[in-house]
Amino acid sequence: MEKKDYYKILNIDKSASPEEIKKAYRKLVKEWHPDRHMENKHIAEEKFKEIQEAYEVLSNPEKKKLYDRFGFVPEGGMPNGGQAGGFEDIFQDFFGGGGDSGNPFSDIFDTFFGGGGRSSAREESRAERGQDIHATINLELKDVLYDIKKKLEYSRYQTCTSCNGTGAKNGTAFKTCPRCHGEGTIHEEQRSFFGTFVKTYPCPTCGGTGKIIEEKCDVCNGKGKTVKKEKLDITIPAGVEDGYVFRVRGKGHAGKNGGQDGSLILHINVKPNNKFIRKGANLETEVTIDYVTAALGGKIKVPTLEGDIIEKINEGTNPGTIIRLKNQGLPTFNGRRRGDIYVKLNVKIDKPSLKEKKILKELAKAKKIEI
Ligand SMILES: [Zn+2]
Ligand SMILES: [Zn+2]
Repeated sequence: MEKKDYYKILNIDKSASPEEIKKAYRKLVKEWHPDRHMENKHIAEEKFKEIQEAYEVLSNPEKKKLYDRFGFVPEGGMPNGGQAGGFEDIFQDFFGGGGDSGNPFSDIFDTFFGGGGRSSAREESRAERGQDIHATINLELKDVLYDIKKKLEYSRYQTCTSCNGTGAKNGTAFKTCPRCHGEGTIHEEQRSFFGTFVKTYPCPTCGGTGKIIEEKCDVCNGKGKTVKKEKLDITIPAGVEDGYVFRVRGKGHAGKNGGQDGSLILHINVKPNNKFIRKGANLETEVTIDYVTAALGGKIKVPTLEGDIIEKINEGTNPGTIIRLKNQGLPTFNGRRRGDIYVKLNVKIDKPSLKEKKILKELAKAKKIEI
């Protein structure tokens, strides 16, 4: 068994307090969130898992004790109810979201922890979860300013309502499996040198259910599912980052044998903007001004996502000066504040006209500049 140094993974000291452990975990999990590493997603996912594993052990006093003593947590030696100080309250801190299901933030948790420790507890006998459906939502940068409502229309497999997903007419047209006589299992005697053994295995004809379809459902032709158009209104919260992934549970393809439906997975694609470079909630842009304005100061036109605005600049403004337009940037993802726009000023020098030349020569004389 490979021993992992959880302290090293979380980049903390062995004497770290629970608070320090939590803090280190928060920082790293933010840093290594797979959605932030679209180019190296699998590496980030590995790292992310490792960080979670380390935190799960070190945040739990019982597990930590075992780990400190043995260098690993023995299987089965874990006390029940392990996840003390759970992950969710940490993520609520990040996003300030509540837990209710209408809230898109609660769906984000599923993206993080998709499956993981939770589903293992949910013993689903042969039930199969439906497949996820992926879709991309394209947004302009200005769409990110406000919560945006999108109407989605797509097709997905839904459980056939006529046969209730069984594939049999009216959900009842079954007959007893002729091979296993309804038992669902096959018993086979095997003789050997040591005596007779009975080998038991699920009946392949009926898949272990003991019954087979007598008459196929004519709505779904025995498939148990039908293609349906799905219409969905969703709200993308303001401030969403490019590359973000939302999961809408139960809106993917239907599950099998009572398995839960898959998810609709929405990938956010924020198109690059030709005026602004996005840095989180802040925006960066450049404006070119005339050298006379730079020297004398004055009013200049500056772009924002909501249209141009007029800004005053000081006299003697140098090329490369950066002005900050407070609260003109994008909202943060938690919607609590707005970022700023940073405008870098370039200065343009035109070839002077005859009249301008005369003035400039006067100026040169006054400044004792030799020409
Ligand atoms: Zn059907
Ligand atoms: Zn059978």
